[in-house]
Amino acid sequence: MRIDLLTLFPDMCETVMAESIVGRARKKGALQVCCHQIRNYAYDKHSRVDDCPFGGGMGMLLMAEPIAECIDDLVRHLGKKPHLVYMSPQGTVLTQKKMKELAEHENLAILCGHYEGIDERIIDRYVDEQISAGDYVLTGGELPALILADGVSRLIPGVLSDDSCFEEESHFSGLLEYPQYTRPANWRGLQVPEVLLSGHHANIEKWRREQSLLRTWKNRPDLLETADLDEKDKRYLAALCEKERDSSANESK
Ligand code: SAM
Repeated sequence: MRIDLLTLFPDMCETVMAESIVGRARKKGALQVCCHQIRNYAYDKHSRVDDCPFGGGMGMLLMAEPIAECIDDLVRHLGKKPHLVYMSPQGTVLTQKKMKELAEHENLAILCGHYEGIDERIIDRYVDEQISAGDYVLTGGELPALILADGVSRLIPGVLSDDSCFEEESHFSGLLEYPQYTRPANWRGLQVPEVLLSGHHANIEKWRREQSLLRTWKNRPDLLETADLDEKDKRYLAALCEKERDSSANESK
């Protein structure tokens, strides 16, 4: 897969995407990432890329032409149009499901806005979808774009040491991940749950599944509505609900 980031801050993006797991994956060729400076496509001698919005109002907007030139140049280079995402607080809020969907594209380009955003005609002419990092507003699209690029990258075969690494993680199956521990087994008097030291794989699996269900039930009950649950899971959750009902009935006595 190849990811192209279109931004006014390519060094910021390059720095992040050169580190750790993603950086190593790029070096071994499992993934290609290229960061493009939109300002290189400015057409005046001051390399200006922004202007005031028509109709008045606060702030500046990124002009259409430099962004369009940057995209056209990328399309010429790739020989095809990549799937183009514009990072925007007005987009669909990013989820793991969306990351999985985007990881299927051979070419993904991510456009980062700045100032008050971009000229709407770029969205009309080029953008395939708008994605938001959450219901809040940041100064630029770089941090959201890096979240997206990082999350998608780790789903590409060969980026993580083992693909099963992400299959058990929070949100992959619709549940939150179970708690995990490493050495020492007793840290400052806090003991690792006995079952994890038992070497009994079936019991460990059962404990992990139940912990996953418990955490999701406690922290993100909304996820249970769409999670993939079998009859055993449902019985376990029903028992949790019953226990909670009993304890609140006892408290109110
Ligand atoms: N005026 C825009 C609005 O009200 O929708 C907000 C512009 S914001 C200050 C500047 C840029 O930051 C946007 O063009 C977008 O690329 C990026 N941005 C800000 N918040 C974001 C979010 N929650 N998710 C994705 N991108 C965001």
